[in-house]
Amino acid sequence: MALHDKNSVREELEDDVYASADLSVKMPKHHFPKLEHEPRHVYSIVHDELMLDGNSRQNLATFCQTWLEPEVHQLMAECVNKNMVDKDEYPQTAEIESRCVNMLGDLWNAPAGTNHVGCSTTGSSEAAMLGGMAMKRRWEAQRKAAGKAIDKPNLVTGPVQVCWHKFTRYWDIEHREIPMEKGRLIMTPEEVLKRCDENTIGVVPTLGVTFTCQFEPVEQVAAALDRLEKEKGWDIPIHVDAASGGFLAPFCAPELEWDFRLPRVKSINSSGHKFGLSPLGVGWVLWRDDSDLPDDLVFWVNYLGGNMRDIALNFSRPGGQIVCQYYNFLRLGREGYRKIHTACYETAQYLAAEIEKLGPFEILYGGDMKEGIPALCWKIKEGANPGFSLFDLADRLRSRGWQVPAYALPADCEDVAIQRILVRHGVSRDLGSLLLQDIKHSMEYFQKHPIQTPMVAAEATGFHH
Ligand SMILES: *Cc1c(COP(=O)(O)O)cnc(C)c1O
Repeated sequence: MALHDKNSVREELEDDVYASADLSVKMPKHHFPKLEHEPRHVYSIVHDELMLDGNSRQNLATFCQTWLEPEVHQLMAECVNKNMVDKDEYPQTAEIESRCVNMLGDLWNAPAGTNHVGCSTTGSSEAAMLGGMAMKRRWEAQRKAAGKAIDKPNLVTGPVQVCWHKFTRYWDIEHREIPMEKGRLIMTPEEVLKRCDENTIGVVPTLGVTFTCQFEPVEQVAAALDRLEKEKGWDIPIHVDAASGGFLAPFCAPELEWDFRLPRVKSINSSGHKFGLSPLGVGWVLWRDDSDLPDDLVFWVNYLGGNMRDIALNFSRPGGQIVCQYYNFLRLGREGYRKIHTACYETAQYLAAEIEKLGPFEILYGGDMKEGIPALCWKIKEGANPGFSLFDLADRLRSRGWQVPAYALPADCEDVAIQRILVRHGVSRDLGSLLLQDIKHSMEYFQKHPIQTPMVAAEATGFHH
């Protein structure tokens, strides 16, 4: 016998959510729902389903922020209805965006006498796309002026994040990606020079390579390109993909020259939602000088009677992330960012030292502030057979909620599997020590229950970043 008459229950607002008629059936999954449902009921359903997602704080794969101050949550809620594109309607939000651009120009050492320009984006991918388009247009203009062909542009990069594969594919540009070698996992000036010619629209070093977390040597690459220009007359610009490093090096390795201090660096992108400590959905791109941003990429919009550049790919975009970026700049300043990131680097170094002590692992990068981002990665020692693969270990850790990605390196090191931990704001030393316990327990488990057929890259759940 049914506990209650379902039709009458619909009227009974006092009913417990889980005893309601709405929740007595499965919700539609494929067809568009016919009827309305109580907001409270639907909230519970959606909220509960989200429990099945990984716990973002234990997601040590992501570079993005997963912990935010209560004030950031508050500002995000206040800005939920603000559209970044409506510069005339929300002039203060537009003003805040341009203050952020000015502050970033200062942070990235735009020299006096240049007129740096830039904008917010949805993330580094859109920012990279804009930086890349500007390089392509500048190269085309120079070639046309010299009466030369513009049908074979190429871009030289190290092992890059997928956004650069998208950029070169979407814009029909030959991608000359420097493959990894055993013992050399990032770009070197020599490898860059081998791939440059008169059709090279630019070189993109990454400050914080996705796979190994290391900084590529921007200063040395710039010097090599200076020599190349003297020899061959090719003036090849640098765009730095500083998705992570743009909000790390200025605070924790200020003497590292990777930014607009190098005249050859014409543009830089960075992710506000990574080490910029803002909520998801904000990136930045800056050009050294307004002459580095071709006019035909710029749309001018009316703004409080004046004119303002609009250089984004999207039209409507949320404004909250940008407002929170500004909040963070004021809240933390250089000092606050330095403290937070230093704590993360130190936790990364602690984890690297402890993981090395476990025996079978070789640390490839251990969280050195001058060499990369607050992260670590390791592989199984050459010749060691611990009785499990890194994919097995990742799988085992997942049973405790940890997401510690294991993945095969890209070309030409596809046979090398590595495992990586990102240490972000909110990944405390204590949380790290709990993870270590779980790594130890996993290894003990594998000793007791040996793996017959270790998992390989193709079987593992993919981590795509
Ligand atoms: C994350 C990342 C990107 C993409 O940035 P999004 O902000 O996620 O769009 C590009 N390059 C590098 C080096 C990255 O780490």
